[in-house]
Amino acid sequence: DTAIVWFRDDLRVADNPALLAAAAHGNAVGLYVLDQESAGIRPLGGAARWWLHHALEDLRAGLAGLGIPLILARGPAALLVPEICDQVGASAVFWNRRYGAVERVVDTVAKQRLQRADVQVESFQASLLHEPWRLATGAGTPYRVFTPFWKAASSLEIRYPLPTPAPGCGAPGRIPAGDALDDLCLLPLGVDWAAGLREHWSPSEGAGLSLLGAFIQDVLPDYATARERPDLHGSSRLSPYLRWGQLSPFQVWHALAGSRAGHPHDASVFASQLGWREFCWHQLFHNPDLAVANLRPVFNAYPWKWPDASEPAAEGPDTRAHLAAWQQGMTGLPLVDAGQRELWHTGWMHNRVRMVSASFLVKNLGIHWRLGEQWFWDTLVDADAASNPANWQWVAGSGADASPFFRIFNPETQAKKFDPEGRYTGAWVPEAGNPHYPEPLVDLKESRALALDSYAGMKAAT
Ligand code: FAD
Repeated sequence: DTAIVWFRDDLRVADNPALLAAAAHGNAVGLYVLDQESAGIRPLGGAARWWLHHALEDLRAGLAGLGIPLILARGPAALLVPEICDQVGASAVFWNRRYGAVERVVDTVAKQRLQRADVQVESFQASLLHEPWRLATGAGTPYRVFTPFWKAASSLEIRYPLPTPAPGCGAPGRIPAGDALDDLCLLPLGVDWAAGLREHWSPSEGAGLSLLGAFIQDVLPDYATARERPDLHGSSRLSPYLRWGQLSPFQVWHALAGSRAGHPHDASVFASQLGWREFCWHQLFHNPDLAVANLRPVFNAYPWKWPDASEPAAEGPDTRAHLAAWQQGMTGLPLVDAGQRELWHTGWMHNRVRMVSASFLVKNLGIHWRLGEQWFWDTLVDADAASNPANWQWVAGSGADASPFFRIFNPETQAKKFDPEGRYTGAWVPEAGNPHYPEPLVDLKESRALALDSYAGMKAAT
C-alpha cells in the first residue's frame, strides 16, 4: 500500500508523526504543495520563500536517504492533493495539523475529497506543544494573559520526540515527476538580495539540530541575561528552524529538559519563550484576523497613519518617506537603523531590537503597526503567521497581554542599556555620528508626547 505524507510547516524527517505513519502504512511518498491560490492564503514573503527553497532541497535529500521520493506541486492544495493521491494510487494521506483559519479550511476540504474517494486520512500534532483548543481559562474562554496560560500549559505532559523512520520505507517504482524545485520560483529573480542570507544561515534540518546542541551547551548557561543583548550571541537563533518545522518544539523542549539541572533559571526563561510562541498561536487560532485587526477594538480609534490615507498631508510629515527610511535603516536613530539593516541583510533581527524598532514605528512615527508587520513578513526568515502579528500588536498596545501603550521605548536609552559599548550599532551603522548619517526623523520627546496625546484622545473617545 502506498501512503502520502503531505508536508507543510514540518520540513523534517525526525520527530515527524505524519511521516512515521506513512512509513508504517506501507510505501511512503512525500508531497509538498506551494499553495498561493486557495482563497485567503497569505502569500509568503521574499525571505521566507528563500528559506523554503533550501528547506525543500534539504528535505528531499533527507527523504532520499530513507528511500522516499518527494513530489513538488504548485496550486490549490485541496484540489491537488486528491489528484496526486489518485495518480500515485495511494490509499492513505497523512499530515501534521496547521492552525490558521484558511489553512484549516483547505485541510478540511482536502480531507472530505479524499475520504469520498475512500482514501484514509489522518492528521497529527507536531508543530505546537499544546494545540490551541486544548487550553482554556476557568470560564472556558481563550487566554488573553500569558502567565496563567503558561502556568496551565506547564502542568501538562509533553511527549518525547519520535524516531526517524528506518530507511527503505519509500514507494518503489514510478511516481509522477511533479514540478522541479526551480519551477516553484522561490529564489530572488533579477537582483540577488539573498547574499547576506546565504552567509548567515544553513537552512537545513541538520544545521537546526547542531544549532540546538550548540545553544544548549554554550549559550543557555547565560541566556536569562545575555538574551537581551544584541551585541552578544545571547539567544538561540532557532526561530527560522522552528518556523519551518525543521526542528520541532518537542525536540527543543526535551533537549532543554535534559540540561535543566545545571541552569534551572536560564532554562525556565528559555522555556517561557517557547511558551510565547505557543501563546501567539493560541491567539491566532481564536482570532483569525490577528494580522489585520486590533485585538483590542478600542485601538480602532487610534489615529495611526497609513500612507495612502494621509499623504500628501499639507505641511505635515511625509508618512511614505518615513516608512521608507525606517525600512532602509535610515531613521537617524542608530539602534533602530542597526536592527533594520540586520533584518535586510540577514533576514533576522534580535528580539530586543525588534521591540525597539517596532515601538519607534508605531509610537514615534505614528505609523500603523500593520505596515510594520507587512515589512517584517516580507523580510524575516522566521516570519510566522502567529508570532509576527501577535508581537506587533503586543508592541502597539492593541494585543493580548500587551505592553502598556504609554511605555514607549527610547531608542537612545535602550542602546545605552543593551548595547553599552556600541558594538552592535557600530557593526551595522558605522557612519553614525558622522555628517553622512541622517538627523533623527522626529524629535523623540515631541513624538512621544504626541503619541501620548493621541492615546489619551483615543481613550476619551471610546
Ligand atoms: P530565543 O530567545 O532563543 O527564543 C527561543 C524561541 O522562542 C524562538 O526561536 C521563538 O520560536 C520563540 N520566541 C521567542 N520570543 C518569542 C516571542 N516574543 N513571540 C513568539 N515566539 C517567541 N518570532 C518569530 O518566530 N516569528 C516572527 O515573525 C516574529 N515577529 C516578531 C515581530 C516583532 C515586532 C517582535 C517584537 C518579535 C517578533 N518575534 C517573532 C519574536 C522574537 O523576536 C523572535 O522569536 C526571536 O527574536 C527569535 O530569536 P531566537 O530564536 O534567538 O529567540
